[in-house]
Amino acid sequence: MNIADIEKIRTLFPILHQEVNGHPLVYFDNAATTQKPISVIEALDKYYRFDNANIHRAAHTLAARSTEMFEDTRKTIQSFINAKEAEECIFTKGVTESINLVAQTWARKFVQAGDEIIITTMEHHSNIVPWQMICEEKSAILRVIPINDSGELLMDEFDKLLNPKTKLVACVWVSNALGTINPVKEIIQKAHAVGAKVLLDGAQACSHLKVDVQDLDCDFLCVSSHKLYGPTGVGVLYGKRQLLEMMPPYQGGGEMIKEVSFEKTTYNEIPYKFEAGTPNIGDVIAFKKALDFVNEIGKDFIAHHENSLLAYFNELLLSEELKAVKPIGTAKEKVSVQSFVIEGMHHFDIGMMLDARGIAVRTGHHCTQPLMNRFSLEGTVRASFAIYNTLDEVKKLTDSLIRICKLR
Ligand code: PMP
Repeated sequence: MNIADIEKIRTLFPILHQEVNGHPLVYFDNAATTQKPISVIEALDKYYRFDNANIHRAAHTLAARSTEMFEDTRKTIQSFINAKEAEECIFTKGVTESINLVAQTWARKFVQAGDEIIITTMEHHSNIVPWQMICEEKSAILRVIPINDSGELLMDEFDKLLNPKTKLVACVWVSNALGTINPVKEIIQKAHAVGAKVLLDGAQACSHLKVDVQDLDCDFLCVSSHKLYGPTGVGVLYGKRQLLEMMPPYQGGGEMIKEVSFEKTTYNEIPYKFEAGTPNIGDVIAFKKALDFVNEIGKDFIAHHENSLLAYFNELLLSEELKAVKPIGTAKEKVSVQSFVIEGMHHFDIGMMLDARGIAVRTGHHCTQPLMNRFSLEGTVRASFAIYNTLDEVKKLTDSLIRICKLR
């Protein structure tokens, strides 16, 4: 693929073709949520026009159709992450719910007083707070792997934290604030060696990196549709069958049961045991189109293009006119996410000035307040690049930053 292919890809995203504040939209807030290709938008429209019916329980044609499409997404995500079985993929609202599901079922059952859970300094709040809640409830201990100034895990410190009391390592695969790719395979091997389970927060990783849960041997992986060109309100929890079967249900209600009486209720098989109530059917069905889109382009091409955008941005930042711009997150292994600050300016003001030129970036703590504290910052400006972004757009960003730096 080449520039012509990127232009072709851009035509698939209607939202990109608009002006914001009198300038063509430059969308660099992809780590918060990605835009959706027309195939996803049309799948949602088609579902509600022609196929809408509740799944799994009715004899009629529309129900059969929507059930088949819903389960088809499960098969597609199974092969996307290379899970052994489709039943190991549970639909949730997103990564936040996937993590809470594991905390409230697996951890509540298996974590005891004095046990330890390890996370990292660069976790999103959604991979901190659920573990703090369970640690408080169980009198367990939360430990944190420190990082260096580039935003890389100190693996020697991780080695020191691991011990037979470690029950779980809950780790972000790719940092949303820094872009760091963590050495998750090594983390998993080391954690397993002391008998601990590993949960990976894959919110940012799944759109950039190849995912193979069998090769990684992770116990749980959390996936978010909306970071992967799919609709909001859909996520996946992958778990190894053996673990999912040992876990109690998350919520009680329809679908998650085998039989109900007032005396005793028996629970359904996985994945349904964890899917109480009517799920987000239309969005799950449309999510398949997002996965098809990524598969069609291929992760190799995506990584190649996004890495070239990141390299170009960092090269432009080296210019004398931009010397006040300080990149935050300079790990050797990273994806196309670049946080930065400008000396003497508030990140929010920078975000507003960029928006005035049609450039959408994220400003603030990125739901990683402990990480911001590690860098003694209140927040950063974050530009995050996706497959439909161009070198030309990156240049627009640095041109605007040059103007902003002159205002200091
Ligand atoms: N973890 C990371 C690293 C994230 O970037 C995000 C989203 N900002 C989440 C978790 C939460 O994911 P979701 O929006 O799917 O709940």
